[in-house]
Amino acid sequence: MPSNPDLTSLSFTFLGTGTSAGVPVIGCQCEVCTSADPRDRRRRASVCLRFTDGEGHERVILIDTSPDLRQQALELGLERCDAILFTHDHVDHTFGLDEVRRFNAVMGSAIDIYAEQETLDFLHRVYRHIFEAEKNINRSFVARLLENELRVGEPLDLFGLRFTPLRLLHGRQPVLGFRVEALDDSGEVAESQPGQLPLAYCTDVSEIPDESWGLLDGLKTLVLDMLRPQSHPTHFSTEEAVSAAEKIAAEQTFFTHMTHDISHAALELPAGMALAYDGLVLS
Ligand SMILES: [Zn+2]
Ligand SMILES: [Zn+2]
Ligand SMILES: [Zn+2]
Repeated sequence: MPSNPDLTSLSFTFLGTGTSAGVPVIGCQCEVCTSADPRDRRRRASVCLRFTDGEGHERVILIDTSPDLRQQALELGLERCDAILFTHDHVDHTFGLDEVRRFNAVMGSAIDIYAEQETLDFLHRVYRHIFEAEKNINRSFVARLLENELRVGEPLDLFGLRFTPLRLLHGRQPVLGFRVEALDDSGEVAESQPGQLPLAYCTDVSEIPDESWGLLDGLKTLVLDMLRPQSHPTHFSTEEAVSAAEKIAAEQTFFTHMTHDISHAALELPAGMALAYDGLVLS
């Protein structure tokens, strides 16, 4: 039996909205790095979905585990994690994975992680102390993870939500975005979608391949990469992000993964588009 979430409880939180170096950048005194506006302080990019499932249990699903995960969890009061989806293997999206061992301890259970095979291979290489814990010299406090492979276009249903992985290009690297929708009682995508859904999370992208546009149709909410005004080989610039967002035409678009070249207050965007900021909750 599918367990459908309490549709009114679903919230989508930006844990981090900064590029790989974060903002402020170490050793920089520019206007944005020294800004008093809290929206100009950007931790590394990740998001979480929180809701109550059909059985009344609180659920937390993370997309990516940034190096700032510990601080993000403390500030937002995250005390559990039911699943982690990974967009790709870059350090700014994966180097907080060690921190989830506290969720294991609090919940007394392992955590399912979902990623493409290349990303799972990377995690194995980096986190040998977790995936080959039997080889650790001393018994130590390491995360307990259950691995699951994601494939583009093959939907993943979790606690009444459907996550459909879609292909994005991050320079030459294929990475994943996710379309998120609520399911109905029969396990089909619900005709009427609650709150901010359908939503697509598309960070770290410089090109949307033809095959993926269909999965970006009819969105209530789009979250899209916008690195900085100047062009970059692996991320959308301000202009490219706005142009892609106009083409996707979601009801509302939030940009993420910004550098210190973007001042939250100073950047002007078309109607229906805004910069996300750390701690922003869409509910
Ligand atoms: Zn990144
Ligand atoms: Zn700076
Ligand atoms: Zn990346």
